[in-house]
Amino acid sequence: MALVALRNVRKAYPSPDRNGDPIVAVDDVSLDVEPGDVYGIIGYSGAGKSTLVRLVNALEPATSGSIRVDGREITTLPERELRTMRLGIGMIFQQFNLFNSKTVRANIAYPLTVAGTPKSEIATRVDELLDFVGLADKARSHPDQLSGGQKQRVGIARALATSPRLLLADEATSALDPETTHEVLELLKRVNRELGITIIVITHEMDVIQSIATKVAVMDGGRVIENGDVFEVFSNPQNPSSQRFVATVVKGIPSPAELAVLRERHEGRIVTISFRDGDVSQASVFVELANAGLEFELVYGGVNDIQGRAFGHLTLAVRGPDAAIDAALAIIGARVDVTEAA
Ligand code: ADP
Repeated sequence: MALVALRNVRKAYPSPDRNGDPIVAVDDVSLDVEPGDVYGIIGYSGAGKSTLVRLVNALEPATSGSIRVDGREITTLPERELRTMRLGIGMIFQQFNLFNSKTVRANIAYPLTVAGTPKSEIATRVDELLDFVGLADKARSHPDQLSGGQKQRVGIARALATSPRLLLADEATSALDPETTHEVLELLKRVNRELGITIIVITHEMDVIQSIATKVAVMDGGRVIENGDVFEVFSNPQNPSSQRFVATVVKGIPSPAELAVLRERHEGRIVTISFRDGDVSQASVFVELANAGLEFELVYGGVNDIQGRAFGHLTLAVRGPDAAIDAALAIIGARVDVTEAA
């Protein structure tokens, strides 16, 4: 059974000017998050990602649709039961949201104190959590004495305090530098693998998806426009909108502005070839072009690695008679994805 099951979920906010149309932040979303998933939610700013996560946490009510968490319909639960339900969901934030006036220990203890856990149990649990996130020596520090990465580790420890089954991470590494991001992502991996906690991550960063997500949903205009296995969605997006979004985050796809520069700099036809692990080799493409007597040079490219599987894009400037180029591209296009800049 899915840990989180959304069916036709919609969230509309009243229009800022009273007579206008409502703002539909989440529009007819259906999604299943299975136990053990690290589910990435990606998309441009304003796509509805944060709203979706607030609905799962019941921080806001959905306008319509069904949201089941651990088999329970949460859209109809009274507030008192929602509070109990929320203990089973941890949340971490971009800005950490720690209490600066409290010590690290007190920050981590906070959800347990609110839940009325006996003091002796709290002390043991907080020690365990401090060890798990590697901050035992910082128990008495205050958040403003910690680095960004350490603050987020406190955030993670606090989110885990009540032993949730589900962790929601809203742009949790977006305020961190690449090295610290890596450290926090490694910790989130351990949360998933060692503690078996299901994670939903909202992010606009490819690194996050690449290193920890097992599944991904692309949102646009409140809708989930594509979802599934991370490698499939990133290496071969089907929806034109998700193709546009993926092109902005994966390596090797020239933007329209970059294409314009390439066209100016290089003679010939500008052709982008997309490769995926297990597809035909790049060499066979070069052999095909050479056999057709065409001249070509590599002008742009990049290779992405998603959990050990590679895919990439190579852009070539190809020169020769048009008919010969057309014939060679037709042969290559039958095996790999070929797009020619208009
Ligand atoms: P994302 O997280 O993908 O950037 P959000 O979920 O924050 O997107 O926002 C989706 C849309 O809903 C945006 O148009 C945003 O302006 C609108 N929105 C979000 N929260 C509110 C709110 N509390 N009141 C009115 N509109 C909102």
